[in-house]
Amino acid sequence: MRPQSLFPLFAPLTALPGVGPRVGPLLEKLAGEHAVDLCWHLPTGIVDRRHAPHIADAEPGRIVTLTVTVERHLPGASRRHPYRVRCADDTGFLHLVFFHARRDYLEKLLPVGAERIVSGRVERFNAEIQMVHPDHVAAPDDLDAIQAVEPVYPLTAGVMPKVLRRAIRAALDRAPELPEWLDPAYQARQGWPAWKPALESAHAPADEADLAPSSPARARLAYDELLANQLALALVRRRQRRLSGRPIAPEGMLRAKAEAALPFALTGSQQTAGAEIRKDLASGDRMMRLLQGDVGSGKTVVALMAMLDAVEAGAQAALMAPTEILARQHFATISRLAAPAGVEVQLLTGREKGASRTGILEAIADGRARIVVGTHALFQDDVVFADLALAVVDEQHRFGVEQRVSLAAKGQRTHILVMTATPIPRTLTLTAYGDMDVSLLTEKPAGRKPVDTRVLPASRLEDVRAGVARALDRGTKVYWVCPLVEESEQSDLAAAEERHAELKAAFGPRVGLVHGRMKGRDKDAVMAAFAGGDIDLLVATTVIEVGVDVPAATVMVIEHAERFGLAQLHQLRGRIGRGSDASTCILLYTPPLGETARARLEVMRDTEDGFRIAEEDLRLRGAGEILGTRQSGMPTFRLADLAHHAELLAAARDDVNLILERDPDLSSPRGAALRTLLYLFERDAAVRYARSG
Ligand code: ADP
Ligand code: MG
Repeated sequence: MRPQSLFPLFAPLTALPGVGPRVGPLLEKLAGEHAVDLCWHLPTGIVDRRHAPHIADAEPGRIVTLTVTVERHLPGASRRHPYRVRCADDTGFLHLVFFHARRDYLEKLLPVGAERIVSGRVERFNAEIQMVHPDHVAAPDDLDAIQAVEPVYPLTAGVMPKVLRRAIRAALDRAPELPEWLDPAYQARQGWPAWKPALESAHAPADEADLAPSSPARARLAYDELLANQLALALVRRRQRRLSGRPIAPEGMLRAKAEAALPFALTGSQQTAGAEIRKDLASGDRMMRLLQGDVGSGKTVVALMAMLDAVEAGAQAALMAPTEILARQHFATISRLAAPAGVEVQLLTGREKGASRTGILEAIADGRARIVVGTHALFQDDVVFADLALAVVDEQHRFGVEQRVSLAAKGQRTHILVMTATPIPRTLTLTAYGDMDVSLLTEKPAGRKPVDTRVLPASRLEDVRAGVARALDRGTKVYWVCPLVEESEQSDLAAAEERHAELKAAFGPRVGLVHGRMKGRDKDAVMAAFAGGDIDLLVATTVIEVGVDVPAATVMVIEHAERFGLAQLHQLRGRIGRGSDASTCILLYTPPLGETARARLEVMRDTEDGFRIAEEDLRLRGAGEILGTRQSGMPTFRLADLAHHAELLAAARDDVNLILERDPDLSSPRGAALRTLLYLFERDAAVRYARSG
């Protein structure tokens, strides 16, 4: 249960004074549903109102705070004309200008003869000085209403800055003093304030430096968030391990048979990863391992070897892919590779229906199905395994922690292997997979030629088309990726269809089209025709992004490459360069290029190293956006920015190791404070794990 002290922060926004039924939902969309979410909504700028000249010295264009006497109200000739209020000090006069003003309101706000403090931007209008819609108007004895330095918050349509500021202020007023969860020595070394003062000062920046991620208040809050993240993951990890695994340590005969039949030798990294996995499986602890390797590094074979061990030990193994196309491809590959070992593989996706589905479910339930490949359909309640010992999850960044846990729940003490392609920078790996061990495939399979990547303006389209014609004549297969259109899938599709029609007119029936709105079966048919049949030039939206394997494809054209993120470009390009022939990737862009887009394309041209690309991506975009966070399963941070706080993340991880070593049940006073921290960041489930220890 959430501690009482936090109740005020977890009240709905509408419980805050001044937040009614109209503004509430808008603020909720902006920040989140609880008061605490407004506390996490930090300012991104400041307005400095400290400049307080006389009217005669007020420079047009500048924000000033003036002390004036109200002289006269000058209502507009009609509603369309502005309402003006003439004010003066000893040095001159100015007009305050209001559009669509209510007279009675203004007469109350600015009574003739009264002294007022007004703050806003002054401008010159004809020969006069004026201030249109002052940001603040206050009586002299209410000076406090005007903050000398005002925080500026990211806004949302329909909410006035003043209203947002007031709501945030009200949320901050609900924040209690909380017991300190930081290690006192570390906190002192960093010079960080306590939590509440840190929160207050993050919302009250005095200058630009206070907005920097490295400012003591912001760094502290970021650290708190990272600490909660790392602690929660560590607790999950510990609990997963406590549910001890089942030792799987067969002789490895099936594995040996499959390996002997491979047309290639395993790379050193594949062997090392295989050995790490075997060690986990044999240990008696439950395996929670991440197999991380760039696109094309050969993760599938490594997973297959582990699955064959599980089968040889008499149990079942499952492999889950994020999409139908990938599941089918894995099914084809794994069936082929497992055949020499005499192991049959079953496929289960949302498309298996009726009697065939029933048959497959029976085979899974009675254990005849030894290896099952599928999509999310493997999660469904009616899928019951006889004895699932190993679950492999591919292209993990589409699955989150909860899904890992729910797949594991399908089997008693199921070992888990998660495969993921970069780009995931190391720092992000820690935040998303801090609950797992990591095996890395660092080498590419032998014989791969580097991809020659060229960056060309769209004006060279004709040359590119001619080059594609030559490539097709040589018998090469070509991907043509159509632009990503952010606003709608519809226009995405329109662009692809148009390009398809045009290329088909030029190259004939060997041109195919695949896109995300096609029916699964149609998609498969097109992919199959591209992999082995009549289609040589495949026009595609980004559906080919992940995992698809057609080694004969050695040319890729990407239109409007400037619209894609680095991670996505890298994934796309990873579809070529898979065979023994040299490959070419052409990135077409439409000028003018923004600075970031240019940097991205240069990175693509200069390197194929997924880790480097991932780090550059993090640098260029910031962690939040790196993988299209929401569906990615990657945690999103409100206060931490991994582009700036990577060191804090490492520190938080070390901190957590020490904490759990000294106080595994979080029962000390600091442990209790840490529980509060977990609740503060809504890691309630993790707290339960701590208790059950
Ligand atoms: P990814 O890591 O991107 O999932 P895959 O497992 O799909 O990569 O492997 C990519 C391609 O490399 C496949 O065609 C696979 O058969 C091949 N491959 C895997 N391991 C090796 C190896 N050691 N030597 C040569 N080719 C390999
Ligand atoms: Mg793969």
